[in-house]
Amino acid sequence: MLYNDFQGETLSALGFGAMRLPVLDDGSIDQAHLDRMVDAAMAAGVNYFDTAHPYHGGKSEVCLGKSLARYPRESWNLADKFPGHQNVKGVRPVTPEGIFEEQLRRCGVDYFDFYLLHNVNENSLACYYGKPENRFMDYFLEQKAKGRIRHLGFSCHAAPAGLEQFLALYGKDVEFCQIQLNYVDWTLQDAKRKCEILKEAGLPVWVMEPVRGGKLAAFDAETEARLRALRPEESIPAWAFRWLRTLPKPTMILSGMSSLEQMEDNLKTFSEHKPLNEEELALLSEIADRLSRQIPCTGCRYCCAGCPKELDIPMLMSTANDMAVAKSFNLVARYAALEPEKQAGACIGCGQCSRACPQKIDVPEQMRRLDALMASQKSWEEICRERAEAARKA
Ligand code: SF4
Ligand code: SF4
Repeated sequence: MLYNDFQGETLSALGFGAMRLPVLDDGSIDQAHLDRMVDAAMAAGVNYFDTAHPYHGGKSEVCLGKSLARYPRESWNLADKFPGHQNVKGVRPVTPEGIFEEQLRRCGVDYFDFYLLHNVNENSLACYYGKPENRFMDYFLEQKAKGRIRHLGFSCHAAPAGLEQFLALYGKDVEFCQIQLNYVDWTLQDAKRKCEILKEAGLPVWVMEPVRGGKLAAFDAETEARLRALRPEESIPAWAFRWLRTLPKPTMILSGMSSLEQMEDNLKTFSEHKPLNEEELALLSEIADRLSRQIPCTGCRYCCAGCPKELDIPMLMSTANDMAVAKSFNLVARYAALEPEKQAGACIGCGQCSRACPQKIDVPEQMRRLDALMASQKSWEEICRERAEAARKA
């Protein structure tokens, strides 16, 4: 395992993110599978585990805490996050006391090694410095003084200006910052500038979405062949991690793994440092250019809870992206099989989703486009008629 220093502590370069844990058919977390993943991580020297209040509807904290409890408390670092942003989303009002105590209970611990203000962005900034009752920082600094939080930080989806705004207020109180960083967002989300800002502020970088919700974990056959020709021994996701350790060199890279297979692949990647060369970096840059033209949905589902039409927004965004790469009848047929009230046309344009979206996607606009695109596609019946007609003429 590769390690980095943080204030004299040794942290594994790979952290286990518990946002997309393995699930059973009924949607509940597969605890036995999770235990095997944690066992593999611990055996390989991973010592950082990251959860958050909303992950898996609160069950991530419970299941991860249960799994880690099988090991001595001092052998792992646990990170959790305060969902201040949910105040803005209107999901439910949040108070620091209530949430924090609940989190300790759920995780089965009496302190967090790392604690973050979750998802600071343009829409949620106000809840961290707006109304007096929203100024949560005092409470968390108090918990830190009591030893219930060892290190305080924040995760940020804001643009560089928003990041600077937050740092101007709380830069002196935080010790690290978690940002979305990968070879697409380096330019697409101005992550390069964010890294510069954090360096100027003296804050180490924690990485989330290193493979962009799986978008950088698999490509079309031609792209994968080009990558494999350069590094036959590497998996496709490994390229994203190699890029991170070649260019921005963050302190912590969190990967939201969903299976033992993904865990084993990542552990292999983080067993040695193999920086990318110029030719390899140029190929990733070319791939990034292509992907930047797609809807940058990571499938985080932050938008889903507030949708009055209960649309599966990430699935619809994914369909739009797939259609942009190659319009296929299978895609159209799969979409047509959805009930009309689950299709893009059911969107009422309320914008609730966009306010919650860390990627700042104009979801209603994308819904309108997808609806129009799908409406213009031929149905299976039309295709059959056309084929029959062509056959008759032939
Ligand atoms: S704009 Fe459409 S997709 Fe977004 S929350 Fe409203 S109804 Fe749902
Ligand atoms: S639309 Fe935005 S909030 Fe919704 S899943 Fe995609 S990235 Fe996440």
